[in-house]
Amino acid sequence: MLQKPKGTYDIYGDKALIYLYFRKLVEALMDKYNAKFVETPIFETGELFHRGVGETTDIVSKETYDFKDRGDRNLTLRPEGTAGVVRCFIENKLYAENLPLKAWYLGPMFRYERPQAGRHREFYQFGFEAFGSSDPMMDAEVIGIVYNLFKILGLKGISVNINTLGDKESRENYRKALLDYFKPYLNDLCDDCRRRYEKNPLRILDCKVDSEKDMMKDAPKMVDYLNEESKEHFDKVLKYLSDMNISYKVNSNIVRGLDYYTHTVFEVQADIDGFGAQNTLAAGGRYDHLVEFIGGPSTPGVGFALGLERLFLALEKENIDIKEIVNPDVYIFSVGDEFKGNVLSLANDLRMAGFNVEIDYNSKSFKSNFKKADNLLVHFIIIIGEEEVNSKILTVKNNKTKEEYKVKLNEIIEFLDEKLGDEDEN
Ligand code: ATP
Ligand code: MG
Repeated sequence: MLQKPKGTYDIYGDKALIYLYFRKLVEALMDKYNAKFVETPIFETGELFHRGVGETTDIVSKETYDFKDRGDRNLTLRPEGTAGVVRCFIENKLYAENLPLKAWYLGPMFRYERPQAGRHREFYQFGFEAFGSSDPMMDAEVIGIVYNLFKILGLKGISVNINTLGDKESRENYRKALLDYFKPYLNDLCDDCRRRYEKNPLRILDCKVDSEKDMMKDAPKMVDYLNEESKEHFDKVLKYLSDMNISYKVNSNIVRGLDYYTHTVFEVQADIDGFGAQNTLAAGGRYDHLVEFIGGPSTPGVGFALGLERLFLALEKENIDIKEIVNPDVYIFSVGDEFKGNVLSLANDLRMAGFNVEIDYNSKSFKSNFKKADNLLVHFIIIIGEEEVNSKILTVKNNKTKEEYKVKLNEIIEFLDEKLGDEDEN
C-alpha cells in the first residue's frame, strides 16, 4: 500500500477540527491588529533561503528540500516563512505604501529533520511580520500577539523568554568576546559547535549538546556588551511588556539560529509536565537588516513564527478540548420520514440566525440519536414529532444539565440566544 512520506501527516477528524478552529481564531485576531494576510509560494528560488536566511543556520545548511525543476532551476521548499514574505515585500514594492505594514501567514513549511513528537518534515506555522518600525513598541506588540493568542486558547503553562542581541556594533563586540572566551575550550566543544565557532559563535550558546558544560555557565553575557542605544531599546521593550501585564524571563542563552536577528529575540516555551524536548512553541525577533540584505531598501522588521503541531500538543496536554468550543449548539432529529421537512426548515432558520446546527439524516432510533448528540457534545437537542408540529411548541433538552424546556416555535431563536449567551459568560 502506498503511504505518506516520512515526517508528514494527514489532517482530518479531530486534527482538522482544531486546525480550522485555529485558522479562524487567527484570522479574527489578526483583523483586530489590522494585520494583512499574505500567501507566498511554497517553493522559492533556492538562493532566497541559501543566501538570504544564511548558510550557517541549521535550517539552511542541513534541513532544506532542494530540487531542480524540469527547466533546470534551483528551487527550495520553504523551510520558514519570513524570507518569502520579505521577498514579496520587496518585489511588490510594499515599502512604498504606508508603513508600518503588519502581515501574517499560515501554511506548511518543510525541513528535513528527524521526525519525532513536535518535529515533522512538513509542519505548519502561523507567522507575523511587521515592517517599517524600529520602535521597541513594535517588539512588545509582536510578543503581545503570541501572548494573547495563548491566553484566548486558555493555555496556562507557557513562559516568554526574551533576550537582546543588540545592534550590529554590540553584536560584533560580543562575537569577539565569545571567540576569545571559547578559544581555549575548542577541544571540549562538540563538532557542531566547533563549526559554529568559525561561522556563528553566538549559536554555541544554544547548543543542546554542550549546554550543561561548566564553560557555558561562565561564558560572556550579551548584556555586558550592549551599547547605550541597544540597552535603551531592550529596556523599553521590557517596560512595555510590563505595561501590558505580560510576564517574561530574560534569558541570555536565547540567541536564535538566524544570522539576521538584531536587538530583541524571544521564544515562548511550554512548561507543561510530560511535554518533551520540543517545547518551543513560538520564536521570533527583530531583523533590521534582512530587507536590505535580500535586496530591498533598508527597512526594519520584527516578527515571529509559531508551530501549530506543538501548540496543539500543548492544548492536549492541558486538556483543552476544542470540540467543546466548536461543538454544535443544537441537534435536531425527527422520528420517521414524515417530519424531515420540518427538521430541515428549523435547521435552516437556526443556521441563518447564527447557530451551529447538526441534524439526523438517516432516520436513526431515539437511542442512537441521543448517542450521536453526546458524541458531538451538542448543547441542545430538539426532537420534532407530530405533537410539536401541531402545537408549534418545541421540547428543548439541555444535553449537559438534562433540563427540559417548552419553547414556542416562534420564540426559539430568542431562547437559544439567551441560553447560549449565558453559557459564553461562564
Ligand atoms: P527547534 O529548535 O525546535 O528546531 P527552530 O529554532 O528550528 O526550533 P524556528 O525556525 O524558530 O524553530 O520555528 C518556529 C517554530 O516552528 C518553532 O518554535 C516550532 O514551534 C516550529 N517548528 C520548527 N521546526 C519544526 C518541525 N520540524 N516540526 C514542527 N514544528 C516545528
Ligand atoms: Mg530546528
